[in-house]
Amino acid sequence: MTSFKGILLNKSDAGFSAGVADIAQDRLPEEGNVVVRIAYSTINYKDALAITDNAPVVRKWPMVAGIDGAGVVESSSHVAWKPGDKVILNGFGVGENHWGCLAQYAKLNGDWLVRLPDAFSFKQAMAIGTAGYTAMLCCLALERHGVKHGQGEILVTGASGGVGSIALSILSSWGYEVVASTGKMHEAEYLKTLGAKEIIGRAGLSVTNKPLQKERWAGVVDSVGSHTLVNACAQTKYRGVVAACGLAQGADFPATVMPFILRGVVLAGVDSVYQPLDTRMDAWARLATDLDRAKLDFITSTIKLGEAIDQSAAVLAGKVRGRLVVDVNA
Ligand code: NDP
Repeated sequence: MTSFKGILLNKSDAGFSAGVADIAQDRLPEEGNVVVRIAYSTINYKDALAITDNAPVVRKWPMVAGIDGAGVVESSSHVAWKPGDKVILNGFGVGENHWGCLAQYAKLNGDWLVRLPDAFSFKQAMAIGTAGYTAMLCCLALERHGVKHGQGEILVTGASGGVGSIALSILSSWGYEVVASTGKMHEAEYLKTLGAKEIIGRAGLSVTNKPLQKERWAGVVDSVGSHTLVNACAQTKYRGVVAACGLAQGADFPATVMPFILRGVVLAGVDSVYQPLDTRMDAWARLATDLDRAKLDFITSTIKLGEAIDQSAAVLAGKVRGRLVVDVNA
């Protein structure tokens, strides 16, 4: 193959552009020691921001989009990888400052790759993607900071989104009573199918409220930020844990220290992009054992490469439920 298809983003004096392009193979970045034939990618929230140029995600132009990919090693000069190996890539600045995986080929650094667990197909790995792997990192943060059964309910915000849907699935399969906060009350049945015990409208959490409120949550997985995260902390029980990973409502955090100094609430920040490899592998191993495949299939929709641009706008408009997998060869 001398060229491949990919979502190419560009910015110049003429403005921003995003489209499916035929890209010559010899334009693959020089940095990188493993060429991967991508089978599937996905649209995460960050991809949607990059593809629509809604936030400064992309640091170099032109850029091939796609922070996640799963596929087969085509060639490698990295000691850990050989042709035919099945790999996953999540983050490490790919799709931001290194050409990404919403493309048929990517040239990546072998240190960034994780072996595809036998338990997953390429498509399932991308149904999980950064969103699902981050959801697992959040759930593991609750576990690490001591949340246990019998301590109370767990709140998941942005519940119908990618992180939220997978966090809900994991926590319910771990046996917790999970309450889903959503702006899509019409998706109540979807959220119940994933294991929500109760669904609450997100409006009540989205606005300014008292710094300390009635204690309810033993743990929280928050992908929304802003007032929602502030209120989640204010409603968390004594010594409860809040795992914060997202900013769908906003990047601000207009809070007081009261929940932390009077109730000993733990606010655990979760980053997925530069997690060390051993933590990534732990998270993927726990996904392999703990994530219900029927629920994963249930939350997944598959689209073609050419649909990625329109669907990115839909993600940012909050119109997409669950996870979008991209078949880069369709
Ligand atoms: P999705 O777009 O799939 O889901 C986001 C969800 O947030 C929406 O479905 C909606 O859920 C809710 N939401 C959207 N807009 C608002 C709003 N204005 N106010 C309150 N809730 C809102 O995104 P992901 O799940 O993939 O990602 C969620 C967040 O996590 C993003 O900010 C993303 O950047 C971040 N993230 C961070 C990572 C990290 O490394 N820290 C890794 C992965 C994601 P509902 O309608 O159910 O309320």
